[in-house]
Amino acid sequence: MNKRIWLSAPHMSGHEQKFVKEAFDTNWVAPLGPNVNGFEEDLCKFTGSKASAALSSGTAALHLALILSNIGVGDEVLVSSFTFSASVNPIVYVGATPILIDSEHETWNMSPELLETAIKDRLSKGKKPKAIIIVHLYGMPAMMNEILDISKRYEIPIIEDAAEALGSTYNGKALGTFGKYGILSFNGNKIITTSGGGALISDDIESIQKTRFLATQARDNAPYYQHSHIGYNYRMSNIVAGIGRGQMEILSERVRQKREIFDFYKNTLGISKEFKFTEEPGSKFRSNRWLTTVIMDSTVGRTPEDLRQYLEKFNIESRPLWKPMHLQPVFANCPSYTNGVSERLFKTGLCLPSGTISEQSDFEYVVEKILQF
Ligand SMILES: *Cc1c(COP(=O)(O)O)cnc(C)c1O
Repeated sequence: MNKRIWLSAPHMSGHEQKFVKEAFDTNWVAPLGPNVNGFEEDLCKFTGSKASAALSSGTAALHLALILSNIGVGDEVLVSSFTFSASVNPIVYVGATPILIDSEHETWNMSPELLETAIKDRLSKGKKPKAIIIVHLYGMPAMMNEILDISKRYEIPIIEDAAEALGSTYNGKALGTFGKYGILSFNGNKIITTSGGGALISDDIESIQKTRFLATQARDNAPYYQHSHIGYNYRMSNIVAGIGRGQMEILSERVRQKREIFDFYKNTLGISKEFKFTEEPGSKFRSNRWLTTVIMDSTVGRTPEDLRQYLEKFNIESRPLWKPMHLQPVFANCPSYTNGVSERLFKTGLCLPSGTISEQSDFEYVVEKILQF
């Protein structure tokens, strides 16, 4: 049996251990220290954001973004339905109601048309949504011009879930920097990883200072332990941040490699009309191509699940697309505005192995097996 070809395995630059060793040598083994500060600086430099807070996860970052936006019990938050559950769970943590919005078919992200329909409908019911959480799925930028325009017109702030989109740009500007807040994730299979971790980025320096305060148990400025706010233990550790600093050195290179992997699949499989690949809808859109996804012609009679099981026999990992949140049992009672797009994508799509740690011969092997299938 060949070695397993993973969907997107961690891929170190080789410099991570230098930063981690430094943390040990100087005994900064704590949820603060030079690596945390250095990693935050790297993130700001890379994204162009004025400030960032390194946290324990992307989910924690989103939770704090909602708290900083004063969202709480009884409020409504608009959010992409076609996403991972972590985009939606924090809305429930703060006691608010997720309003799920389906996708447009070009980028697969939140449909601006449905977004406006939903806002008008919520307003007519006497409730103004408190925020819009935009997800850039698989690294592809959403239709930001249209969405920013709606956000401005209705005066509803945007929180960008750029967990999958570090290294993607829209109009030359990093994703995560368009909204009031952007959230990033460094979980194990993201484009860069710290083993687990996340960050909140914003141009509002004061909000990021408040994020750090809330993420370290909200301790007042007093010699004893005094608290005037509910706090959280969400800060990133200095060890983990060391991995992040090493990863930031090769992020641009990883984006280049991911885009090459996409091109390889498209140029080899895309010639068959059974397989479709999502193009960037215009020159403004630049995806990091975190995962290459393929849409299969549903008239052929073989499903993505058949292909997934076939590849599994050859020790190749592939994965269904995210199951839309409006189809999840846990969110069945949430209001949703749907058009069938994400449901169709879920039924006809598959994520292909896209790890930069895999070799060219691995991708050739995957393509060979897919063509056999
Ligand atoms: C990974 C991911 C998250 C959550 O990030 P964690 O660091 O795993 O908590 C949130 N949203 C999306 C779209 C993701 O893919």
